Amino acid sequence: MTSVRWANPSTALRANDFIGDFGARVRETDHWAEVVAIVDVQKKARIFCNMSLSRFKGSLIGAVVADCIGALFEGIRVVRLKDVLGVVEHKIEKARKIQKESGTRPADVYGLQFTDDTAMARSVAASLIEKDKLDARDLAHRFAEEFRSEPDRGYGGNVVTVLKALRDPDIEDVFKPASEQFDGSGSYGNGGAMRISPAPLFTFFDNDITKLESLTDSITRLTHTNPLAIHGAMLEVFAIDEIMRMSQGQSIDVNKFLDSLIAKMKPIEEKSNDCSEPLAKKVVPKRPLDADPTPYCAKLEKIKEFAFKEDLNASEVEAVLGNDVSALGSVPAAILSFVRQAVTPDPNMEGRNEFERTVLYAISLGGDTDTIATMAAAIAGALYGAEQIPESWQYYCEGVADAETFAEKFFQRGQVQKVAQD
Ligand SMILES: [Mg+2]
Repeated sequence: MTSVRWANPSTALRANDFIGDFGARVRETDHWAEVVAIVDVQKKARIFCNMSLSRFKGSLIGAVVADCIGALFEGIRVVRLKDVLGVVEHKIEKARKIQKESGTRPADVYGLQFTDDTAMARSVAASLIEKDKLDARDLAHRFAEEFRSEPDRGYGGNVVTVLKALRDPDIEDVFKPASEQFDGSGSYGNGGAMRISPAPLFTFFDNDITKLESLTDSITRLTHTNPLAIHGAMLEVFAIDEIMRMSQGQSIDVNKFLDSLIAKMKPIEEKSNDCSEPLAKKVVPKRPLDADPTPYCAKLEKIKEFAFKEDLNASEVEAVLGNDVSALGSVPAAILSFVRQAVTPDPNMEGRNEFERTVLYAISLGGDTDTIATMAAAIAGALYGAEQIPESWQYYCEGVADAETFAEKFFQRGQVQKVAQD
């Protein structure tokens, strides 16, 4: 076995670069072998494209279905996995089977609606695609218009004040209403992190973490200016970006993955402490780790242990990581849901794939179930691809078709960028 011989060296360079670690190798016998090799590489390159598109779809569609299903349990502090499984099996999966067989949807089954998480993520995706950059004014307008047209999507009370202020077409500074909340310390809720999944897809082909940070910071600041809210959104995009750069379905090295997130979060959290009073003074810590000078990093360290802990239960996760509407009390729970179901499958979910387990487990943690599930699913979908999202879930959840279109547009944009770079 030797390396491929190429009829055209420039083709070889591009194709080898494009297929990455597929490592094309064929028998070097005659001209026919070269032709076979090129076709083979083209086929693999196509698979690479499909895989990536599938993962773009997996992240955005995954976030939507998790929001819709998670919303059924939103605000319930203690949720039993058995109950989550019961709803999914009977109201979604069995119902779809009956509908397929009889041609009629069972009378007691309704489509599941998305909440504010998806409503705002759709605005982020649409604005980035249409403007091909972050246009804060356009995005602020979309947030406000989305809220005006459908105010009953479960928006938090405080963000409503900001969204109403952003309705003003003559507003000079679109970041000002959010920055004035809570006597100027800003909201530390998870409203920034819950809608941020389109950002890492937008910057994926740039491969520029600074650009991703800056984009995430601006998108979040339109409604949430407290550093804890911004850092939570940063952690979510770093997780998605990191996962997108792994091979599809690759097994996770939990410690390596979490260490990589800590390496990115540490300077951000430390810098924030340097230039202002410690966050703990502004935000009353609910849990011991919340008071750590670098609380997201402290929780990521804890997740290393929780990912493998045999008898971990939801109340322990709530007590240590949190499951509430704050960013610090929910983004770590989403990261845990993803890594734990990748390496310590719950025996009560035997037969279910990693994506399904991630979503169902995230919901079973209780509290802000739709948001924790949507953030966990955006990460899981980015690794496992849309193939792991059950057809029945996609069928009954509102907003899936739009999420698929957004994913296609982000991916196509990236392909155009890639060709231009080549
Ligand atoms: Mg919600």
